[in-house]
Amino acid sequence: MERIRSGRDGRPTFSFEFSPPRDEVGEAQLWRTVRILEQLQPAFVSMTYGAGGSTRDRTVRITGQLATETTLLPVAHLTAVSHSAEQLRSVIGAYADAGIRNVLALRGDPPGDPLGEWQQHPDGLEHASDLVRLVRSLGDFTVGVAAFPEGHHRSPDLDHDARHFVNKLRAGAEYSITQMFFRAEDYLGLRDRVVRLDPEQGEKPIVPGIMPITSLRSVKRMAELSGKEVPPEVVQRLERAAGTGEVEDKDAVRREGVAIAAELSQRLIDEGVPCLHFYTLNFSRATLEVLTELGMVQPKQG
Ligand SMILES: Cc1cc2nc3c(=O)[nH]c(=O)nc-3n(C[C@H](O)[C@H](O)[C@H](O)COP(=O)(O)OP(=O)(O)OC[C@H]3O[C@@H](n4cnc5c(N)ncnc54)[C@H](O)[C@@H]3O)c2cc1C
Repeated sequence: MERIRSGRDGRPTFSFEFSPPRDEVGEAQLWRTVRILEQLQPAFVSMTYGAGGSTRDRTVRITGQLATETTLLPVAHLTAVSHSAEQLRSVIGAYADAGIRNVLALRGDPPGDPLGEWQQHPDGLEHASDLVRLVRSLGDFTVGVAAFPEGHHRSPDLDHDARHFVNKLRAGAEYSITQMFFRAEDYLGLRDRVVRLDPEQGEKPIVPGIMPITSLRSVKRMAELSGKEVPPEVVQRLERAAGTGEVEDKDAVRREGVAIAAELSQRLIDEGVPCLHFYTLNFSRATLEVLTELGMVQPKQG
């Protein structure tokens, strides 16, 4: 996708990830965040694809609204979970009808237990690479895929993981977005493995996914989401910020979480990444704070 590399003066671009809201209150919150972050002119925004029929319908509707009612370029996530190939074709058709031409093709996780054994739908697809091929076969779509700097939780080792990742790129994906991570070395290691395996595919941008931690509680949640523990040195910094008193210093934890995300982002910028992708959780504040810390947006006046 051209927009990923459209940063000027050696600065990377940035992008934001949103999730389908569960109800009207959540939808109002999402739109507030969208309108704030829209002003920063991100390269693209992405909308995750959730489990369950009603969430899925809302996902398609809201992603379509992002395409028609905002200045943003939406990337629609799509997973193979619980879908036959026929149903997947129909969702891709609905995205196309809504004016969406960018799809992040994912296998997805088993419903109910993200870290459990993968169950392919009897008439469905087995790997994300199959979905890349399906989306590409249905029209003029730009397709991205997921990347895992620490390895996917089901991959036996990093080389196995990188081989299958390269296969997704060879299937026709033009770029990838990574799982959240906290050590720049993990990202750089993946980038090097891809270049070693296939220099041509190594030209395709791997966009690092950044998640600012804003509370000690979310440390545990992150491990549940990604299947990887937050590194101990990061947890220690947050715990030190929380203090030793009876009441946790929540503001200090938040500031430290933003500082950690900004330091990681700066290191990645120094290493030449073309774009930074922020997991916003449908809120704008932490992302804005990191971008301000990096000097990529102006601090809010007043
Ligand atoms: C940026 C990003 C966005 C995401 N968005 C969503 C979302 O919107 N909704 C959602 O439900 N989940 C989402 N996920 C989670 C993702 O669906 C899970 O992590 C899932 O377990 C892996 O998906 P994948 O597309 O990487 O699968 P795959 O690429 O199919 O890989 C899954 C596992 O199978 C292995 N593998 C792949 N091909 C082969 C092969 N040919 N032979 C043997 N092994 C193989 C891989 O090495 C890996 O271990 C996202 C993840 C990321 C990083």
